[in-house]
Amino acid sequence: MVDTPSDKPLVSVVIPVFQEAGVLQVFLASIRQVLSVSPVSYELVLVDDGSSDDTWPLIMQEAKSSSAVRGFRLSRNFGKELAICAGLEKARGDAVIVMDGDGQHPASLLPELIRLWQASGADVVQAVKRTRGEESLSNRVGALLFYSILEKLSGFDFKGASDFKLMSRKVVDAWLRMGERNVFFRGMTAWMGFTTVQIPFEVARRASGHSTWSYLKRLKLAITGITAFSSMPLQFVTFAGGLFLVFSIFLGGQTLYLKLAGRAVSGFATVILLELIIGSFLMISLGIIGEYLARIYREVKGRPRYLVSQSTETDKNPPQDFLL
Ligand code: UDP
Ligand code: MG
Repeated sequence: MVDTPSDKPLVSVVIPVFQEAGVLQVFLASIRQVLSVSPVSYELVLVDDGSSDDTWPLIMQEAKSSSAVRGFRLSRNFGKELAICAGLEKARGDAVIVMDGDGQHPASLLPELIRLWQASGADVVQAVKRTRGEESLSNRVGALLFYSILEKLSGFDFKGASDFKLMSRKVVDAWLRMGERNVFFRGMTAWMGFTTVQIPFEVARRASGHSTWSYLKRLKLAITGITAFSSMPLQFVTFAGGLFLVFSIFLGGQTLYLKLAGRAVSGFATVILLELIIGSFLMISLGIIGEYLARIYREVKGRPRYLVSQSTETDKNPPQDFLL
């Protein structure tokens, strides 16, 4: 399954793809061109995340023309994180590189990632965004807010974090041992530690098409990231409760005093305000607890993280190992 059978190290490039028919061929050609002159053997592990366009036929075609290409098609759209997870499980390389399939992670950086891995002996070579490319202002602000909250809550540094990285076999095996369903790839790799070297890169323009991440998808990922890496929001509920207790002792004392002094007449506004404030705090607290509960529920159900419906390795029959 490699380009040339040899004792050169094997590097797997895992690429999650969703509705990328417009860019895929050109992108794969650029990767193959770059890797064919590098001092390693390679395989391309393409995970089609339930695309409805021509992405899968294109992957099959690529796999037919080159034995270095391996394609897996998920049974529906499971989201980028789980598509990466599928790719990591299928990858067989001594090192695995994860990158986007839309051309935004430049193929020209691959030799440098590999060189650094071999030269430095580091377990993770992390490509760090120099700038955030041509993102909209709302996306930038959203990302800044999310990462600063996540950093404060979890204590990990996510500055310039991207999913573009090389991981050694040891790290991939360690990653695969984390069986959680709420997958947040970059957070989980940051959590693992290991020696990491960084390499800056400029986010390229999308070759064509458009980002399929809606605001809702981004928000969901942000909530997954925060709940998976911190239980601080739950402590916030306790903290808010404590604050209200102090406040209620003060207000209760004052009300009682006015009552005993026979001056308890007005106070309608206070009652309404208290109702509203306490009501909304209670609902937010329930929401936070519910969020954790829903995630615990998802974890205990123990369903497979994704399902593979087709693969280029078993053309006719669905793979037998489809349960992971
Ligand atoms: N992607 C995926 N599943 C999804 C959405 C995206 O596998 O549900 C892939 C997509 O094909 C691309 C990568 O994830 O290779 C990054 O997606 P995109 O460019 O839409 O995100 P952005 O660059 O805006 O973060
Ligand atoms: Mg992109």
